[in-house]
Amino acid sequence: MCKLCIGSASGNQPASPSRRAAIGMMGALSLLGLSAAAGVAYAKSPPKPENVLSPDQALKRMMEGNERYTSGKTKSRSVASTRAVLAGGQNPYASVLSCADSRVAPELCFDEEIGDLFVTRVAGNYVTSDILASLEYGVAVLNTPLIMVLGHTSCGAVSAAVSAFEKQTEFPGHIQNIVTELMPAVRATAAEPHQGTLLQAATIKNIKQNVQRLQEATPILSRAVQAGKIKVVGGLYHLDTGDVELV
Ligand SMILES: [Zn+2]
Repeated sequence: MCKLCIGSASGNQPASPSRRAAIGMMGALSLLGLSAAAGVAYAKSPPKPENVLSPDQALKRMMEGNERYTSGKTKSRSVASTRAVLAGGQNPYASVLSCADSRVAPELCFDEEIGDLFVTRVAGNYVTSDILASLEYGVAVLNTPLIMVLGHTSCGAVSAAVSAFEKQTEFPGHIQNIVTELMPAVRATAAEPHQGTLLQAATIKNIKQNVQRLQEATPILSRAVQAGKIKVVGGLYHLDTGDVELV
């Protein structure tokens, strides 16, 4: 049986609120226990000690890496030796919810290497249930202290949503799902005074809305935010300069 299913599989009666809370706690503890059993945890010796950081230290490191990237002063890498260090576990210092756009490459734009960033991607960088689950795993099991929602300028996904809003454009197949998910940001932006074009402003609105969704996502992320264990921030990647602007 999956360790996360311990509570729900123990009887057919609906769980009381207090029992549900206990089940939730058991699930969280089991999740942490699972990491130890699988050799993923690193409580005694993290494979990358330099990645054990506070939320503020993690953000500072990301932004300094971006500065190296934009100035062309990136650090040298030894992928083979790092791969060996990480074979038994991982402790990335930040999670990223990035757009899938091929021009936005988190490890490159923050001048990091394997084992540093826990990256989830979807066109339009919005929270889905699967992405939320991955980011919860990053926090609860891997202890990542920082999550960055990373959007970018000239985003095709946001542009599609703007086009659907302004011209009632419809998109084939499952592409329409992206438009549906991004439409709240476009509508909210259009309904208020905003700087720049609707595309520019909606891109930033979408980042901010998804930062808030993660901050309020119960139970794991919201608790970690309230306890000060993690921070969730938004970043806008400029395609032309490579600069990441915090928004
Ligand atoms: Zn994009």
